[in-house]
Amino acid sequence: MAEPAEADVGSHPEADPDIAHDLVGEPQDGAGAQAAPVFDAPSPTAPVKVELLAGPSAGPRPQGLELDFPLAPPRPDGTVVEAAEGLLWARMPMPMGLDHINVYLIRDGAGWLAVDTGLALPHTRELWEHLVSTALGGAPLTGLLCTHFHYDHAGLAAWMQERFDIPLWMTLGEFHTLRTLWAPSPAQIPAHQARYYHRAGLPAERAQALFDTLRQDRFVSTAPATFRRVRQGDVMTIDGRPWQVLVGEGHSPEHACLFDAERRLLVAGDQLLPRISSNLMVSSTEPEADPLQRWFLSLDRLDTLPEDTLVLPSHDEVFRGVHRRTRMLRWHHQRTLDRLGERLIQGRAEGGCTATQAMSALYPRLRGPMDEILALGETLAHLNWFLAQGRIARTLDDQGIHRYA
Ligand SMILES: [Zn+2]
Repeated sequence: MAEPAEADVGSHPEADPDIAHDLVGEPQDGAGAQAAPVFDAPSPTAPVKVELLAGPSAGPRPQGLELDFPLAPPRPDGTVVEAAEGLLWARMPMPMGLDHINVYLIRDGAGWLAVDTGLALPHTRELWEHLVSTALGGAPLTGLLCTHFHYDHAGLAAWMQERFDIPLWMTLGEFHTLRTLWAPSPAQIPAHQARYYHRAGLPAERAQALFDTLRQDRFVSTAPATFRRVRQGDVMTIDGRPWQVLVGEGHSPEHACLFDAERRLLVAGDQLLPRISSNLMVSSTEPEADPLQRWFLSLDRLDTLPEDTLVLPSHDEVFRGVHRRTRMLRWHHQRTLDRLGERLIQGRAEGGCTATQAMSALYPRLRGPMDEILALGETLAHLNWFLAQGRIARTLDDQGIHRYA
């Protein structure tokens, strides 16, 4: 994907996870082909001083950050790869651009603890049945840990609890977000959501299209009713080994990773993916959120892990190179901020640009409402970061639309 406009995106709360990834994809080398920014002189009426945007820029794409991929992935058909002793890697197919999710099984005494579920589709349920009866040799599942609430990770949580009679481990934030979003959508767009789109400068008919898309989400399934809570800093003892719970934010409210310090294994969920960057989204539920700041802080936390940690991510391949990857992800978002800054400076002559206008500049090739949902959320995440840093200003114009400059 040489398209230089992209934020890559992982799954999003209310959206199909695929688009995310497809929407944008990691910026490839084409990124460098962009023309040098032209900084328009601010008009006398521009609401904010240019220097507010001053700040570090991404600079050229860093070199030498290639990751090591030591293992060939399993096919998404119920076969497994042993990623480490007592740690199995399997894949569940997904009918979308991002065509799979990795799930893991950690040996737990005579049985196995499952990590993440795959989408709530009949075929995924069949594959779990197949996995348990073949790859696990009939050994039971002892529990399920869902790293976060997104449907590719937790879509089958309630079914697996019931079918295999196992407990579900999640953080409080993820469990309750899953419960909340499971509730049926109202028929009409709620006021807070309408305001979110309106303030972003999105015309009403496009806002309606996004709302209709969210309402028709194919992957909403029954939410689990009970869970066991994990927290940042907890240690889960699995088969006699201590696994630390590391919580990340930005992509989801309270995303759990599991880290085995002795063997240097990180079950990373979507908190550290090797080829795509996870969607960071400001939603209508929390319009003033600053997920990018939370994401950067979470990358700092991951940087405390050894570089040679074997990372077991939820998408693409198992890899080594924690620090190389966090560095690339920081660069990616910094570059998005640079491009956004250029657009904001251009917009100053018109009294500031709207979030929708900024989105069109960052993501010029959106393919439909789901792309637009993710792109708008990602654009707002970067705008809110600038705001929180005091580098731009936001005003409400006489039509009730936010203008950023
Ligand atoms: Zn996710």
